[in-house]
Amino acid sequence: MNWDDPDIGEGLDPEGPSAEDLDRFGDEFKTCPACKKRIYDQVEICPHCGQAQTDQPHGAGLWIIAAAILVILGLLSWIV
Ligand SMILES: [Zn+2]
Repeated sequence: MNWDDPDIGEGLDPEGPSAEDLDRFGDEFKTCPACKKRIYDQVEICPHCGQAQTDQPHGAGLWIIAAAILVILGLLSWIV
Protein backbone atom coordinates (compact mmCIF):
# COMPACT_ATOMS: atom_id res chain seq x y z
CA MET A 1 0.00 0.00 0.00
CA ASN A 2 1.28 3.41 -0.94
CA TRP A 3 0.72 5.88 1.90
CA ASP A 4 2.16 8.68 -0.20
CA ASP A 5 -0.85 8.54 -2.49
CA PRO A 6 -2.40 12.03 -2.26
CA ASP A 7 -5.81 10.58 -2.92
CA ILE A 8 -6.12 9.30 0.66
CA GLY A 9 -6.76 12.89 1.70
CA GLU A 10 -4.72 15.63 3.29
CA GLY A 11 -4.63 15.85 7.05
CA LEU A 12 -5.33 12.16 7.45
CA ASP A 13 -2.19 10.65 8.90
CA PRO A 14 -2.19 6.88 8.46
CA GLU A 15 0.60 6.72 11.03
CA GLY A 16 -1.36 8.80 13.50
CA PRO A 17 -2.11 7.66 17.03
CA SER A 18 -4.39 4.67 17.12
CA ALA A 19 -6.18 3.32 20.13
CA GLU A 20 -3.22 1.03 20.76
CA ASP A 21 -0.84 3.97 20.67
CA LEU A 22 -2.93 5.86 23.17
CA ASP A 23 -2.90 2.81 25.40
CA ARG A 24 0.85 2.47 25.10
CA PHE A 25 1.72 6.09 25.70
CA GLY A 26 -1.05 6.97 28.11
CA ASP A 27 0.16 6.21 31.63
CA GLU A 28 -3.23 6.65 33.18
CA PHE A 29 -4.17 3.00 33.36
CA LYS A 30 -3.17 0.30 35.77
CA THR A 31 -4.26 -3.24 36.45
CA CYS A 32 -6.53 -3.95 39.36
CA PRO A 33 -4.67 -6.37 41.68
CA ALA A 34 -7.91 -8.13 42.55
CA CYS A 35 -9.68 -8.70 39.22
CA LYS A 36 -6.77 -8.00 36.84
CA LYS A 37 -8.85 -5.64 34.76
CA ARG A 38 -7.60 -2.34 33.42
CA ILE A 39 -8.80 0.64 35.40
CA TYR A 40 -7.97 4.31 35.54
CA ASP A 41 -4.94 5.07 37.65
CA GLN A 42 -6.77 7.79 39.54
CA VAL A 43 -9.69 5.73 40.78
CA GLU A 44 -9.71 4.84 44.46
CA ILE A 45 -12.05 1.89 44.05
CA CYS A 46 -12.07 -0.56 41.15
CA PRO A 47 -15.31 -0.11 39.18
CA HIS A 48 -15.27 -3.80 38.26
CA CYS A 49 -14.87 -5.56 41.58
CA GLY A 50 -14.94 -2.77 44.17
CA GLN A 51 -11.38 -3.42 45.33
CA ALA A 52 -9.90 -0.36 47.03
CA GLN A 53 -6.70 0.78 45.34
CA THR A 54 -4.29 1.42 48.17
CA ASP A 55 -0.98 1.76 46.36
CA GLN A 56 -0.72 5.41 47.16
CA PRO A 57 2.68 6.94 47.98
CA HIS A 58 1.56 8.52 51.22
CA GLY A 59 2.64 5.76 53.60
CA ALA A 60 6.30 6.82 53.82
CA GLY A 61 5.30 10.43 54.40
CA LEU A 62 3.13 9.46 57.35
CA TRP A 63 6.03 7.60 58.93
CA ILE A 64 8.28 10.63 58.55
CA ILE A 65 5.67 12.86 60.17
CA ALA A 66 5.18 10.39 63.02
CA ALA A 67 8.92 10.20 63.58
CA ALA A 68 9.20 13.99 63.55
CA ILE A 69 6.42 14.29 66.13
CA LEU A 70 8.14 11.75 68.36
CA VAL A 71 11.42 13.68 68.08
CA ILE A 72 9.71 16.97 68.91
CA LEU A 73 7.96 15.41 71.89
CA GLY A 74 11.23 13.96 73.02
CA LEU A 75 12.95 17.34 72.77
CA LEU A 76 10.12 19.05 74.64
CA SER A 77 10.19 16.51 77.47
CA TRP A 78 13.97 16.84 77.64
CA ILE A 79 13.85 20.67 77.74
CA VAL A 80 11.04 20.80 80.30
ZN1 LIG B 1 -10.96 -4.93 40.25
